Amino acid sequence: MAGDITLTMIKPYAVTKNYTGDIITQINKAGFKIKALKMTWLSPLQAEQFYAVHKDRPFYGALVQYMASGPIVAMVLQKENAVADFRKLIGATDPAEAAEGTIRKQFGTDKQRNAVHGSDSDENAIIESNFHFAIKDQYAY
Ligand code: GDP
Ligand code: MG
Repeated sequence: MAGDITLTMIKPYAVTKNYTGDIITQINKAGFKIKALKMTWLSPLQAEQFYAVHKDRPFYGALVQYMASGPIVAMVLQKENAVADFRKLIGATDPAEAAEGTIRKQFGTDKQRNAVHGSDSDENAIIESNFHFAIKDQYAY
């Protein structure tokens, strides 16, 4: 159903620290179904493309370099109200400001290494899911 998916990436530091399993467990316990999943490594060009919306922000270069610095785990997640509910589960961008119990609070270290990405709108959830996963209609099962 439209509007019920979000795209997440577990970011390089969290993957290399072996937090992937714990993060996925929390995502599942919060009621999200995994509709697509892959572990991969973004090229600098792919990271630039994914975060192109931020290209004028001062942290863009650092963010791109970081996201291409190690493996990531990308997932399409499904749940009613997925975008908003997932952003609540992960917490504020800066782990220091994220609420107790959120994924960024538990597994993030700073604004850049904040453990996970979460889409900010239904429209971007679809764009970002298509960025990582090419098969159309794969979320319908
Ligand atoms: P999000 O939607 O909560 O992920 O935050 P944004 O869309 O505003 O920013 C995208 C990503 O850029 C964040 O998840 C951070 O990893 C990174 N970022 C945001 N602000 C900063 C900053 O001030 N410094 C650095 N180094 N990275 C930042
Ligand atoms: Mg964002």
